[in-house]
Order: sequence, then C-alpha cells, then structure tokens
Amino acid sequence: MAVIVAFRVVPTGKMPPSQGFDELDRDCRPASRRVAVEAPFDAGNSQETSEVDHFISEFHGKYGRSPANNDNQYDHAYDSDESSNFGCVESDFETFTHSIMIDGRQEDITIAMWFSTDEDSGHPEWFENLLVNVKSASGEDIGRAKAHHVMRDDIRRFFRQHMESASEGLAELASSVFDRFGNLKDEFMTHPIRKGSGAFGNEVSRGSFLCIETLEISVQKYKRLGIGALVTRKILQKCTAGCSNVSFAFVWPSQISTDVFSRVSSDEWLRARGEVVSFWRSVGFRRIGPTCWFGYPLDSNHQVRKLAAGDDYDPPTVIDDLGDECGETLEMEPDLPEAGISSFFEQKANRRKAREQRKYPLHFASRTLPDAELVRCFAEASSDTDWKKQDAHWDTVLHVVAKRVLSKSIRWLLLCHPDQMQELLFHRNALGYTPIEALEAKYYKGRGRSLYEDVRLVPTDMFKGYTDLAVESLALLKFGLEGPTMLQSNEGLRLRLKFGCTCGTCCAGLLSPRTRHTLIVEAEIISETLGGWARREYKDEKEFEEALECVEHFFKDVPTHIRKLFQKDESLRRGFVGIIDVIRGSIHDNGGLPILEAFIHANPSANSIASFLRAGGTIASCVKSILRFARDRDWLCGNGYLMEFMPGFKSDMDGLPRCRNDSEYGAFARMYEVVVES
Ligand SMILES: [Zn+2]
Repeated sequence: MAVIVAFRVVPTGKMPPSQGFDELDRDCRPASRRVAVEAPFDAGNSQETSEVDHFISEFHGKYGRSPANNDNQYDHAYDSDESSNFGCVESDFETFTHSIMIDGRQEDITIAMWFSTDEDSGHPEWFENLLVNVKSASGEDIGRAKAHHVMRDDIRRFFRQHMESASEGLAELASSVFDRFGNLKDEFMTHPIRKGSGAFGNEVSRGSFLCIETLEISVQKYKRLGIGALVTRKILQKCTAGCSNVSFAFVWPSQISTDVFSRVSSDEWLRARGEVVSFWRSVGFRRIGPTCWFGYPLDSNHQVRKLAAGDDYDPPTVIDDLGDECGETLEMEPDLPEAGISSFFEQKANRRKAREQRKYPLHFASRTLPDAELVRCFAEASSDTDWKKQDAHWDTVLHVVAKRVLSKSIRWLLLCHPDQMQELLFHRNALGYTPIEALEAKYYKGRGRSLYEDVRLVPTDMFKGYTDLAVESLALLKFGLEGPTMLQSNEGLRLRLKFGCTCGTCCAGLLSPRTRHTLIVEAEIISETLGGWARREYKDEKEFEEALECVEHFFKDVPTHIRKLFQKDESLRRGFVGIIDVIRGSIHDNGGLPILEAFIHANPSANSIASFLRAGGTIASCVKSILRFARDRDWLCGNGYLMEFMPGFKSDMDGLPRCRNDSEYGAFARMYEVVVES
C-alpha cells in the first residue's frame, strides 16, 4: 500500500487549525458552469488562516488573482447545483475545470471524477471506488486519485474478512485502526500513550468511511501548484453532500518506492515522508493514535478539525541502528543481478543479525534462543550486565522475552534481578507498551488476524483462548513470582487471562458484562413477544399462520417438523418459550448457559420443556435464537438497534465496564459447542 503524493506543500513551524474544506472550495466549478472570470477564493474571513488557506492565498497572489475578487453569487449557484450521488449510484461521472498559471500562461486543467465498483472484488454492495483523473488542457494525463468508499454498517460482523479481500490498503487500515467489528481500537482512546492526540473517539466507529488509497500528480511541471489539494477537496466534498453517511476519511501518507534495491538513506526517506505527512496535515488530516493512518472528520465541529497541525501527535522517531545505512557494512555489497531479490534480503538480514549480536548481545540472545537455553545464557552473564539496556526501539530484554512468551526466562529475571525488573515492568518501548502490554497487544492482534505463510487469516469466532504458556507468562508479569500459584487457586482469574478479559469481571473469562446484559435483554424480549403467541388458542390453521408470520423469525433454528407441530400443540410452544426463560435466568444468575438435566427438574415449565425436547427440539435452537438477535442488534457488531431504540438500554450499558471481550457472541457460543450461522 502506498499513497503517492508527487507534489509538495511545505509547512513551516506550528500550523494553525485547519478550517476543513467545506468553507474553502470556491476556486473550482463544474465545467458546464464555467465563466470567463475565475471564481475567487475568500481568504479574509478568519484571522486563523489554515495552511490550505495560506496555500491557496499564495497561489492566487502569485498568479495575479485578488482574494477580494469574490463571486459569492456564483458560489451559491455552484453549491446548489452540484450533483452528488455518493453511495447511491454506481457510476456518476462529473468533470470540473480549474485554471492554473504555468510557465507564465493560464491553462485550464480538467478533473474528472466517477464511481466504480471493483470487478476484482465481485462488485460487493458495501464497497465502491471513487476514481479521479486529471488532464491538462492538451488532454495529457497529469494526475489521478483513487478512494474506497466502505459502507461499514453492512459488513460489521465480518468487517476484517471483507476488508482483507477488498484491497491491501483497506486490509492495513482494518488491522491497524479498527477492531474486528470495524470499531476504533480502544487503545486509541484510552491508552496513556497510544491514544496519541486523543482527538479521535467512538464516533470514528460510526457510519461509512472513505479511504484515500492513492493521490498522484505525475507530470513534473504540474507539481506543487495546488492541484493535489484541489483534488482532495473535491473528493471530500463528495462525502459531505448527498446521502453518503460518510463520517470520516482516512489516508496513510507515504511516498512510493518501486525500487526494492533503493539506496535511499534513512534521513532522505524520513524527509520525503515528512513532506507527504505535512501535505495531509495541511488539508486537515490528523494522526490516529501513533499509527501511520490519518483521519479527517466530515463533521466541521469535530475536535480533530480544531486541532492545530503543529499540535498533532507524532510517535517517537526510531533511528534504526542495525541497518546498512548506519555505516557499518560488515560484508561486501551483494552482486544484485546474480544474487536475486531473496538473496539480497537474506544477506541484508544477516548483516542486521551480526550487528545486533554485537551491539545488543542479551537482546539478540532473547530473540533467538529457546527458553531453557536463554535462562542458561542469562545465568552466565557477567555481574556488571546492564539489564536495563534498551535497543533502538526502546525495548528492554523483558520486552523481548515477554513478546516471545518465554515464561522460564521471565521467571528467572524476576527471581534474580527483582529490583531492576520492577522498574522494567513499567518501562515503555517506542510503541508506548510496557512488557505486559506488549504481550497482550501481540495476542490481541492475533485474535483479529494472523499470518500464515504470507496469507492473512482472520480467526473471528474461532478464538479459543490463549495458550497455557501465555497465561503463565501474563500471570508472572502481572502478579510476580506468585502469579502461577494464584492461577491454580483462582479459576476465574485463569480464565480471564486465558480469554484476554480486560474488565476483570467476564464470566468464565469470556462473557463480558455488556454482552451478558444484551443477551438477558434479548431473551426477555423474545420471551415477552412469544408469551402471548404460545398461550393463545387458535381456531384454525389460517389464524395460526397469520400469528406465526409475525414471530417465525424467532424459530429459524427450530427443526421444521417442530414448527409444523406448533399449531396443534400448545405445550411445544410453551416449551420453546420456557427454555428461553431458563436460558435467560441462567445467564443472569450464573453467567453461562444452563445444564439440561438441572433445569428440566428445576423449572415449573419442565413438562412443556420436556415435550419440546422429546419432539426433537433442542436447547441449542433456543440459544441460537437469543444469540442471533443479540448479535444482529448489537452496538458493536450489529445494527445497534437496542442501543438506539430500547428505552434505558444505553444508560444500562453505560453503567457497565467495557471489555475486549464485548460482543464475542460467536466465541461464547462455541464455548458451549453451539454454532450460530450467519
Ligand atoms: Zn472482561
């Protein structure tokens, strides 16, 4: 994934807040409405002139157009007439012309924009491309852009899978910024370091979004004339008009490099990337957490729009001191034509290893040796060993062994160097993680995605908890040498570590308070809805069928022959509702699904329940009914119906702690060997 920006906007010093685009797009008109006098740009309304303001003012000033030469009448005509069918029409071709001064003469360039579904991804309904082409007056292609419009609410449950299949850029965005349901990762809102500017919140998780994948002005003489900013404005303007429901635009600012053998130095590369980042900041984008991704809210009142570019967060710059650029070439440069790409990278990697072994021997050993062997290596270290030494990424040895889940080595460090380890437990690396957080982040990332022979796998509901080794390592890091003993005496604690609970109260380590509450509420709704239907007497089949029509969506998982028996056998109907009630009670009281024998004997509706089960009905079908409704109307992975329309539900949920296990209906069901299909 590379975002190409082949033009430059150079900011200097601290930049004032961006005003966004909606106030600024006054220098470009639909071709059909162009008149001889170029519509001007009003740069005089605000004392806090944004960088885009500055850029365009400079542009107009340089090429002889006065900011005072306004034509607001024309602006209104343009605003009201511009058509925008973003998200509604598959293809909507529009062109705009724009005058630029180049080589001392005026030239009209043409910007064409249209929508396209992606043939490669099978024309999914939730996804479309916005394509832009820029031509010179002579018809030469001088630039292009491509953005993806993702209708997220249509794909929440399989957000990661869909994004993985759509494009490399969307796959990266999905795994870097969002959780598996397409919601902004919690750490970008709550982590003391990784929240970055802290300007992005839950609202990033709502609605559709736009991902700008490429933006390129490819002909040299047209670069640095503001065409890129103009194209960006036109793209974003599409999102603000019409029925798009787009709430944010995202971009990963990066320069492109097609030369795998590039000898560009780190400094040159950083400088080039810095220019690209500056451009995107100049047009209002701000960094999301410490990631490479930048976001732009379409809401002009959003706090991101008030964040000055100079106040935006940048993660610490890590200077790679192991690469070839550090001036310590240990071997001859490879003979590229003969060696080939794989050999080139192999030799490069070997040189890195050699440097690391010399500069950071303990880190190197920690990265490469098996656990038991590493303990022996640690034990043989000299008495003046600096256990607090950090590598270029600010990782200590404790970070390295934590991420590799080397429980024996963690134990040895805690036992033999307790004072230093107490300090290192709270030491943050360049990513902002302590050793514990680094291990948790590694496993959390694995829950949403993993790599297998370069193929991304999205495990989704298949999560079965972390390995015993990971649980033991987490216990050591969190609770010290007593940790493993605590696990033996506290099964709840062990399960919470195993399933990555972050709220500290998940039932069986996995069922979070919010998910539990949602299941209880849905079971109550189903029970109340079906109660009257189950007890009612139907005079004939027609009356029953009419009544059934309103509720049959609850029986999707009930075997067909049982559904047919519902008409004549009231006890079967009451049996189904009775099981729903028992499941609700069990989740409410015990935080888990009921045990069959126990509830048949204990429940007053046991006779009808037994009838339902004898006839071939299953508890699983009732569980699936509840899970399906809870999942599909969930606020994270569904349509958010309960949160939006159920009185009191939102305030109830607000009173419950959040957890990484929220909305893990599939994993919860699998714990009881119940599979809920799509
Ligand atoms: Zn939890």
